Amino acid sequence: DMSGAIVAQDEMGRPFIIVKDQGNKKRQQGLEAKKSHILAARSVASIIKTSLGPRGLDKILISPDGEITITNDGATILSQMELDNEIAKLLVQLSKSQDDEIGDGTTGVVVLASALLDQAMELIEKGIHPIKIANGFDEAAKVAVAHLDKAADDIACGDRAAFHDYLFQAAKTSLGSKIVSKDHDKFAHMAVDAVTSVMDLERKDVDFDLIKIEGRLGGSLQDSKLIRGVVLDKDFSHPQMAKTVAAKDGSEGVKLAILTCPFEPPKPKTKHKLDISTVEEYQKLQTYEQDKFKEMIQFVKQAGADVVICQWGFDDEANHLLLQNELPAVRWVGGQELELIAIATKGRIVPRFQDLSRDKLGTCGKIYELEFGTTKDRMLAIEDCSNSKTVTCFLRGSNKMIVDEAKRALHDSLCVVRNLVKDSRIVYGGGAAEITMSIAVSEEADKQQGIDQYAFRGFSQALDCIPMTLAENSGLDPIETLSLLKSNQIKDKSSSLGVDCLGNNTNSMKELFVVDPLIGKKQQILLATQLCRMILKIDNVIISGKDEY
Ligand code: ADP
Repeated sequence: DMSGAIVAQDEMGRPFIIVKDQGNKKRQQGLEAKKSHILAARSVASIIKTSLGPRGLDKILISPDGEITITNDGATILSQMELDNEIAKLLVQLSKSQDDEIGDGTTGVVVLASALLDQAMELIEKGIHPIKIANGFDEAAKVAVAHLDKAADDIACGDRAAFHDYLFQAAKTSLGSKIVSKDHDKFAHMAVDAVTSVMDLERKDVDFDLIKIEGRLGGSLQDSKLIRGVVLDKDFSHPQMAKTVAAKDGSEGVKLAILTCPFEPPKPKTKHKLDISTVEEYQKLQTYEQDKFKEMIQFVKQAGADVVICQWGFDDEANHLLLQNELPAVRWVGGQELELIAIATKGRIVPRFQDLSRDKLGTCGKIYELEFGTTKDRMLAIEDCSNSKTVTCFLRGSNKMIVDEAKRALHDSLCVVRNLVKDSRIVYGGGAAEITMSIAVSEEADKQQGIDQYAFRGFSQALDCIPMTLAENSGLDPIETLSLLKSNQIKDKSSSLGVDCLGNNTNSMKELFVVDPLIGKKQQILLATQLCRMILKIDNVIISGKDEY
């Protein structure tokens, strides 16, 4: 880093470099550096740890300008914490990578990484070289992941209904620890319906761009719903217009005229000032205007439109005529929204009334006003559009914090469902997967020659940290719970026994449907191991101070 450096010349013209901030630079080296990293990681993890699992606690985060966030999402907590330690910042990035690639498991990955670092610390104190530890951890991670592959179950082997049911259960598990957990059935259904309506089963792909998440204050979480189509922040132009327009039986659907021309008569083309001095003249002008309106409405009717979507406003007169002609209309629709509607309904945006024809109309199954209790607030939903794979998850909540957390929670479960569509193999939650890996790694430890033995044992113990934390957060004795689960997993040759966090009187995560996507769990292991290696390799921290001039 040459930022504090200046190039100067001596009396002979030879260049030399002056580095000004040396005095202010702090350095930590060797073991001292590593220990301080691990302590930093531990302090971050201790904050995160208590929010792991369905009995995890929420955190309240207050930003410098007083905005409040309540969440138990690891990535969100970490991203909003003001950390000044570099290693702690690495943990933040760790949970962010998990979030970007998988979308869930962001708390778990940090807990695991810090447990690995704790183990590494013990091994360092035993005198093992950090790079040897990192290498041993890498080998152990390979064993763990390979074992996970064997322990995974494929949920797509049954029929479609069973697959959907499984997706639902997995979505529900991911919501278990969130603010929305009271309504988790509803949110899980929403997540599954959203993903299954936009997914491409053949390519095993889900395009998240087609899923919109919209939040609106007011009402309760229970009022949230999935809208198969587009939601507009608009209402019909006249309160007496039908609140719902639905396709009639046998028809192609509701036809929408999407217009960028205003619903107003062209000004009479007189070069001179318009002088109205008699009642007759006034009536003539009025008739002219009315005729023009009628003509416009005639064009719309002839094309076969049921609803008019208009970029511009129109006056009371036009509004009334539209009402009389049973043409519900929406005015002042923004350009972007207009385009969205056109794409979703496969309609064309029409600039002049005389250009309207049936083939240019958009088609949808239903267009209706969403009402919000007693408030005057209205929104419009356009559903079952002809193109549409577009869906909107429309979330309600009594305050902004709840709506925001609901958005995050829904996003997590959308990710879980998407991951399972991409790869339908699952492992069991509640720490069951970690325990089975831990057993496999510790069995393998005995076969290792040399120092890897220690690294393997350390790795296995780090894995135990997940079920232990889950137990602790649920008010159970961590060590007792872990040892019982381990011995039962070995005895029953089962990899689905995990921590009974919610007091269901069973440890069978299979029975409780507590599952995690295999790819998410694998990613956690790999990312945590990678991060640990990275930190173990750093043995020189140079903290640059403020430059002195
Ligand atoms: P993350 O941000 O890592 O997803 P969560 O707070 O969502 O963290 O907790 C996820 C952990 O809780 C996973 O290990 C999952 O298996 C476990 N879990 C979720 N629901 C249950 C449950 N009902 N019983 C036991 N464990 C559960």
